[in-house]
Amino acid sequence: MAMIKKDVSFKLLRSAVHRVNAASPSRCHQAQRATTNATTTIVSQAPQHLTAAVAGKDGDNIFNFDDTKTLFASVPTGKLLHSAATLNVAAVEPMVDLSLWVMNSKLMYVPLFKKVVMGTIKYTAYDHFVAGGDTVETGQTVRRLWNSGVRGMLDYGVEHAVDNESCDKAAQHLIKTAESTQSLPPSSVGFVAVKVTALCPVYLLKRLSDLLRWEHKNSSFKLPWKQQTLPIFSETSPFYHTLQQPAPLNGEEEDDLELAQKRLMKVCEKAFEANVRIVIDAEDTAIQPAIDYLTYWAAIKYNESQRPMVYGTIQAFMKDAGERITMTKIAADKMNLPAGFKIVRGAYMSSERELANSLGVESPIHDTIENTHACYNRCAAFMLDQISKRPGGLILATHNLNSASLAAKKAREYAIGKDSGKLEFASLYGMADAMTFALRNAGFPVSKYLPFGPVDQIMPYLLRRAEENKGMLSSSALDRKLMMKELKRRMKAYFTEKETQHKARANSMAN
Ligand SMILES: Cc1cc2nc3c(=O)[nH]c(=O)nc-3n(C[C@H](O)[C@H](O)[C@H](O)COP(=O)(O)OP(=O)(O)OC[C@H]3O[C@@H](n4cnc5c(N)ncnc54)[C@H](O)[C@@H]3O)c2cc1C
Repeated sequence: MAMIKKDVSFKLLRSAVHRVNAASPSRCHQAQRATTNATTTIVSQAPQHLTAAVAGKDGDNIFNFDDTKTLFASVPTGKLLHSAATLNVAAVEPMVDLSLWVMNSKLMYVPLFKKVVMGTIKYTAYDHFVAGGDTVETGQTVRRLWNSGVRGMLDYGVEHAVDNESCDKAAQHLIKTAESTQSLPPSSVGFVAVKVTALCPVYLLKRLSDLLRWEHKNSSFKLPWKQQTLPIFSETSPFYHTLQQPAPLNGEEEDDLELAQKRLMKVCEKAFEANVRIVIDAEDTAIQPAIDYLTYWAAIKYNESQRPMVYGTIQAFMKDAGERITMTKIAADKMNLPAGFKIVRGAYMSSERELANSLGVESPIHDTIENTHACYNRCAAFMLDQISKRPGGLILATHNLNSASLAAKKAREYAIGKDSGKLEFASLYGMADAMTFALRNAGFPVSKYLPFGPVDQIMPYLLRRAEENKGMLSSSALDRKLMMKELKRRMKAYFTEKETQHKARANSMAN
């Protein structure tokens, strides 16, 4: 009996959702057309701490958050309901803390308990923040996003690899990822994201970084394996990781480096065959010099005369970010090489500060968040100016409304058009959806970073997202508020329509 009741109520809910969906103008290209030239009001429903910054002095004409019907036009009600529920639960701090505790506890060694926890995660956080378990499921997500005017950046969820065997496996997965884009609508995937830590053993990245730092400080110190690259240090870059002259690479290490370069080349070439570009993620300062070295080596090898094929990442929370992006860009210009950068704020703040603190040296991270914001906006403005004048590429990877708004206004001033292929706004799947749709509706190219992979493997990524979204003032506050508003609007529209139908039926019966 209970089963039957459950079944019936589930059917009723599904049918209500289906009908409420019908109350939404579900085709988003329509929405885009409606608002591309339109302008905009500011964020009256968004939380104050978010809206005040976005409005700016002269008012904002990029985002329209007032009209949630247009904003979420491409999102079916079931998906909207799931997203709103997940983000609202993620905002309850004690709940997230408890989940994190459970995930890290010994209870996870009990098979049945683990199965239940993983199952729960699969249908909540995983479904919200992860694009799929494999390339097939992720392809479906790509198609759905593409139909709503948003492109994908495929991010196979693999973290640090320890040896050549795990690097080979990761390279195979990345190659498969690149190949999978060939069966997707052309242009629906702009980039494959690559973590160099998946292609080169971490011990070697540390060794290379040490050697590169020492070479930078001591011009007589030579690195026989070093090939042509772009500047990776400024004078203010952190050098405290390398306190004494490192031993040169031995034969085995040189072989491992060659293997890592071959893996990166294979991944790049497969991606380019599919007309997809590569963006290389930034990681922590202990290994970032080696990541930059390999990124710029690949950029020199593969960037075409008019468009960069390999993008590096600049973390604006670093004090040296502004200097480095300028130096690297100038050096690339001298070589007639179009440079491509993704600009992020940076994800390793606590560990960087802890390391600097433990060594008794100044932190490489900006002392205040305002300095990080200012640095992000300066780097973005610099690159927007550059790409407005010459070939190059820029991915503005941020959930920060103020940064996105400032950059979008500048892009308009410089007339960097959607079709130029030079600029992309990017956010993580399941985050900053309102901003993504508002930028899309305002006519800007937008992409979602789409992490994918089996639940177990993607867990470290999910734990980071849980941390990032917890607390009522977290960056998902705007999404939660606007999603709830839209759900209420759809419910109201559904019941109004029902009532009208009911009255019409009653009238016709009376007549
Ligand atoms: C598409 C995409 C790709 C990404 N790729 C990478 C990558 O390759 N490498 C990487 O490291 N990160 C990456 N990130 C994560 C990114 O670095 C940020 O952690 C995340 O996006 C939050 O920053 P935000 O720009 O969205 O701004 P906001 O939402 O405004 O975030 C502000 C956050 O900045 C941090 N912060 C930075 N500097 C300071 C400071 N001085 N004092 C206090 N807080 C500070 C705080 O954690 C704060 O919560 C990526 C993000 C996206 C959206």
